Amino acid sequence: MKSHAKVVVIGGGVVGASVLYHLTKAGWKDVLLIERAELTSGSTWHAAGGMHTVNGDPNVAKLQQYTINLYKEIERISGQSCGVHITGGIMLAGTPARVDWLKMAQARGRYLGMDLELISVDEAARLFPLMDKKHFLGAMYDPIEGHVDPYGVTHAYAKSAQIGGAEIVRQTRVTDLRQRQDGTWDVITERGDVHAEHVVNAAGLWAREVGRMVGLELPVLAMEHQYLITGDMPELVGKKEQMHCIDFEGEIYVRQERGGMLMGTYERAGVPWSEARTPWDFGQDLLPNDLERIAPSLEVGFEHFPALGPAGIKKVVNGPFTFAPDGNPLIGPVKGLKNFWVACGVMAGFSQGGGVGLSLAHWMVDGDPGADIWAMDVARYGDWTTLAYTNAKVRENYSRRFSIRFRNEELPAARPLRTTPIYEKLQADHAVFGDYCGFEHPLWFAPSAAEATDIVSWRRSNAHAHVAGECLAVQKTAGLLEISNYGKFEVRGPAAAGWLSRLMANRLPKVGRIVLTPMLNDRGKLIGDFTVCRVAEEHFFLIGTYAAEQFYLRWFERSLPASGVTVRPCAVEYVGLSVAGPNSRAILQSLVREDLSNAAFPFMSFRRVAVGMVPTYMGRVSFTGELGYEIWVTTDYQRALYELLRQAGRDHGLKSFGGRALNSLRIEKSFGTWAREYRPIYGPHEAGLGRFVDLEKPDFIGRTAALDERASGGTLRLVTFTVDASDADALGDEPIWHDGKVVGWVTSGAYGFRAHSSIALGYVPAALAAAESGFEIEIIGERHKATPQKTAPVDPQGLLMRT
Ligand SMILES: Cc1cc2nc3c(=O)[nH]c(=O)nc-3n(C[C@H](O)[C@H](O)[C@H](O)COP(=O)(O)OP(=O)(O)OC[C@H]3O[C@@H](n4cnc5c(N)ncnc54)[C@H](O)[C@@H]3O)c2cc1C
Repeated sequence: MKSHAKVVVIGGGVVGASVLYHLTKAGWKDVLLIERAELTSGSTWHAAGGMHTVNGDPNVAKLQQYTINLYKEIERISGQSCGVHITGGIMLAGTPARVDWLKMAQARGRYLGMDLELISVDEAARLFPLMDKKHFLGAMYDPIEGHVDPYGVTHAYAKSAQIGGAEIVRQTRVTDLRQRQDGTWDVITERGDVHAEHVVNAAGLWAREVGRMVGLELPVLAMEHQYLITGDMPELVGKKEQMHCIDFEGEIYVRQERGGMLMGTYERAGVPWSEARTPWDFGQDLLPNDLERIAPSLEVGFEHFPALGPAGIKKVVNGPFTFAPDGNPLIGPVKGLKNFWVACGVMAGFSQGGGVGLSLAHWMVDGDPGADIWAMDVARYGDWTTLAYTNAKVRENYSRRFSIRFRNEELPAARPLRTTPIYEKLQADHAVFGDYCGFEHPLWFAPSAAEATDIVSWRRSNAHAHVAGECLAVQKTAGLLEISNYGKFEVRGPAAAGWLSRLMANRLPKVGRIVLTPMLNDRGKLIGDFTVCRVAEEHFFLIGTYAAEQFYLRWFERSLPASGVTVRPCAVEYVGLSVAGPNSRAILQSLVREDLSNAAFPFMSFRRVAVGMVPTYMGRVSFTGELGYEIWVTTDYQRALYELLRQAGRDHGLKSFGGRALNSLRIEKSFGTWAREYRPIYGPHEAGLGRFVDLEKPDFIGRTAALDERASGGTLRLVTFTVDASDADALGDEPIWHDGKVVGWVTSGAYGFRAHSSIALGYVPAALAAAESGFEIEIIGERHKATPQKTAPVDPQGLLMRT
């Protein structure tokens, strides 16, 4: 084994092998993979090898497409067969809600270039004769589903990497990792040490253990997973290979395996494996079968696919594989650990392994993953993902693998976990809560405790009328919103202004003022949008997205000077309330001594203000587009502030409102939000944020690219549409049609109660941005006329906020 390498990849499962291959492909040849046993000795060897393109996140779906298309390439380079069987696949729907889900999945596939086809049950039965039609209502056909040989794929990656210059060492366990002063790593193994510039944790079932070597508790947990293989079936003799089939309501997947069928399930009563630590002596082992646990699912399977029953069970496989709390991979660099990368929690290695390897290799070599991989970024999790939290969420995710997650559905596991001091008060006000990074936050308020529940639906739900009332209050009188779950940072020091100015695309505010600003990466793409408030010359208060806190901190540390600036995340320390609506000033004025008139405290002001006895930071800004204020206090004061505002608001029609109403209000104003309208695939000009980029400023990250984007106009444009929809609004990810062709996608949608219209925001090609007609938006399988708006549907000049 060599004693020095540019990169050491720990783990020779399908993921580590893919990372290794992609590193060589990206030009890094001095790369070494260290494997504890033989390649595939983790969860890879006993995988069922199934692969599909459909994924809830469109960006992950694209990487799945990439993975499946990659197999030809690595077969060609390595000469190793991947055992690819492209059989095609069908997905069966047993309920009307699932039929709707299929329609939406097909529609999403349209703008991803996927060739998904909705088919009748009769047609499905013709394609997959083993099913019993009576259990199903509809189906979808995907021509590029299939399965591969896990051994073949892993070795094809490995051999291709070796041909590209990589080395692979087997039967050698990495026992420790030590970082040197200069950020490089000593990789301690059973057979000597390797000095490496970079380390990649692709240790699969042992990713937690490798993480712990550097003080990381990665949110991954292995679950036991069983599938069975039937005896040979006469129905299959002399026939073309059967398709893959997913029976969602039956919670079953089936495919042909030689002369029999393979049937697997994600059972409700899933069982974690090695909850706290994975034994190092676990090798190419299987776990004892527990058919009883999956018996309820098998019964359904044999009923829905009756030919399988008489064939008997030839073999049962029970093996563990890992999941992150949301079921998506964990990839990327880790904040605070220079040159330490993870590629783990990959639960669908044969659909996702290629995309994971590609993104990570780009990230390491070019400093950027090259695609929008937010859904897989390890930085989407933070301190709240303890072992127990991960355990609860992974179990829930596993048990719901084949369940529909409605857009208005909040999942119950690991809740309530993080609450603010007014949680019980909001509960008493019949708040229906959502979970955001483990935080409870009010979504809407019901008139009674009995009605305080979401009835899940793709269409306008039971909350619609109540959200309407909340929006109306914000429009006509005043609304009170808890805004604690935003990310916040305090930036201080003599070099703070210089550092922030280089980081943010807009100019910095003067003391006592607020500025909205995008944050760009080197390619000039959006990687954040912040409200920057200047408390003093050397003191800034930043407000952004809490889910991206780790992502931001990781980005900040790249450029943070050794002295002169401190950045302190303080999301939990400062909680907040927002008062918005025409009466908001009168409410606050009755509680504060300072003059809050428009002249004395104009739009975009930010000050320390005492509200009653409560010391606050108050900003004159509101995401609702109405006259409004955001008030930040340390947690100990939040109850007192809440009571003061409620009392003072009593005579001014103050009504509590929640996140659903805020979403509707901001969409009516064409205000975008992080992870929907603003993502690293869009430039500021495309996203309509050009006015917040100060190109006069001589030096900020992404400036050159932003200049180019302004000159060229970019390729996309964010457009606001009113939609002729009657009982279901766009939610996001629906295709936008123009003159009979899919040209774009929706990022957010809602009913706008002030505008009296269904509204959607979405991206279309820049060349079409000026088109005035011909657009349609597809909602649950139906195309609705969509009219592009030249300006925001509500108060386009922004006069309400400024009065
Ligand atoms: C029963 C079953 C069925 C499945 N079916 C499918 C399917 O149909 N389709 C699909 O896409 N996926 C399926 N999977 C999931 C799939 O197996 C995983 O997504 C995939 O194996 C993850 O690969 P990995 O490389 O991340 O991890 P692993 O395969 O666990 O690889 C990690 C490797 O790292 C090595 N390692 C760990 N620690 C060290 C160390 N300290 N030093 C050196 N080496 C180390 C291990 O020995 C191991 O070889 C299934 C899994 C199971 C169990």
